[in-house]
Amino acid sequence: MKGLFRQKLAGGARPPRRTRRLHLVLGDQLDGRAAALRDLDPAVDTVFMAEVTEEARHVASHRQRTTLFLAAMRHFAIALAERRQPLRYVTLDDPTNTHSFAGELARAIATLSPQQVTVITPGEHRVARSLRETCADAGLSLDIMDDDSFTCSLADFDAWAEGRARLTMEYFYRQRRRDLDILVTAGKPTGGKWNYDQENREVFKSPPRVPAPYRGRPDPVTREVMALVEKTFPDAPGRLAAFHWPVQRRQALRALRKFITERLVHFGTYEDAMHTGEPFLYHSALSAALNLKLLSPHECVAAAVKAYQGGGASLNNVEGFVRQIIGWREFMRGVYFREGPGYTQRNGLEQTGGLPPFYWTGDTDLNCLRHCLGEVLEHGYGHHISRLMVIGNFALIAGVHPQRVHEWFLGMYVDGVAWVTAPNVVGMSQYADHGIVATKPYAASGKYIQRMSNYCRSCPYDVNERTGNEACPFNTLYWDFLIRHRRRLASNQRMKLVMSNMVRMEKAESSRITRQARALRRRLGIE
Ligand code: SF4
Repeated sequence: MKGLFRQKLAGGARPPRRTRRLHLVLGDQLDGRAAALRDLDPAVDTVFMAEVTEEARHVASHRQRTTLFLAAMRHFAIALAERRQPLRYVTLDDPTNTHSFAGELARAIATLSPQQVTVITPGEHRVARSLRETCADAGLSLDIMDDDSFTCSLADFDAWAEGRARLTMEYFYRQRRRDLDILVTAGKPTGGKWNYDQENREVFKSPPRVPAPYRGRPDPVTREVMALVEKTFPDAPGRLAAFHWPVQRRQALRALRKFITERLVHFGTYEDAMHTGEPFLYHSALSAALNLKLLSPHECVAAAVKAYQGGGASLNNVEGFVRQIIGWREFMRGVYFREGPGYTQRNGLEQTGGLPPFYWTGDTDLNCLRHCLGEVLEHGYGHHISRLMVIGNFALIAGVHPQRVHEWFLGMYVDGVAWVTAPNVVGMSQYADHGIVATKPYAASGKYIQRMSNYCRSCPYDVNERTGNEACPFNTLYWDFLIRHRRRLASNQRMKLVMSNMVRMEKAESSRITRQARALRRRLGIE
């Protein structure tokens, strides 16, 4: 038997000759404490896991994202084998691998003749549909079990959403704080306010030293995966050399501890700041571990609240973190499942452009994009403001089709999973869902980037100009975006002020902007 991973699995329990229950574990369901796993009887039940190229190719997946999923799956499988849980595991380099979940599930059913197939709710409609169809073809039904790794069940989200004219994340978040009794004192928000965003917009000027985030050195099992990914996906985007993500629970717990003791103290204060050479700043960088279920949201929030209670971090920093975990993250999941499979196809602004080729290489002279895209290529990561206000904002104001943007985001970040990436990109970043997630487009000129970063200081473009050879492209495209969508945006109360500025613009200036934006889009390969 070749390969360290296969050697480690070789001593595990074999699937029973006739399996009673075949339980599927997908790459983002690696919670060893899940109720679905606790219920298994090793005498008659088998866990099924498969590495398939389909999942790294249905959108172009960053080398680090593919490596993270596969390495974490393998460590999880080794832990199952050590627990003597019977396991059918198909590796990427298995010569009989059909390279689709459907194909591998069909083979597993044919070999093990299970009476029942179960899976925890898949995080993507596409996967759920494919698994359901495969089971139906085999004359079996697929039992989809609730995912207990979130703080809010889908049923509870629906109950909250029912009858509301619009879904507002802030109200959902407040309700969750009350329901879970987190930072609530006698029914009121601890400290008197639900939200400390006003204190969390500091610019990173003369900062304290930023402690490095947790970096896990790849172990031999992970290194084996890295070599396999390089060999199997030679054209995949991104670089693998700096891979450092937690691939097993004990590493994820270490990353959480390091964040709580070293970085939480300034997390909120600088959460919107961007700075060259600081891709992580004070962000937790725990989203990938959370999305793979190596960590639970409950333990992350409990650790942050404990730090606040022990005087280790102030309320604005802790509340900002808590809001991201039990507010924003769970709100996105609720929207994804409530809106159904058609959500990712929405294109409310009818944008049709292609993604600029430099999104895959970082090769651009726009300094902010060069840095933010460079971080993604290097780490498979960028924090929420570089995603929303630089990379997403540029695609929005340049007129890129939201599906192209969603595919890029889904594949290029190590934490990319459909239930969170779709509402975050299609809804929040690209305003393509007719205003379900965001009340107005997150469109901004270069002025926002200048205020929140040091990128503009060493950029060949002039952030004070909106037309002319040296004008900041964000400025040109921002005003062009308002001009192109003036009819749609005119009725948006939150856009009133900016739209009135646009309407007052001289005709000659608006024509100049339109002409320059069109030339820019052609030059950048957008149209
Ligand atoms: Fe980006 Fe414009 Fe600033 Fe250059 S001037 S860094 S393009 S916002």
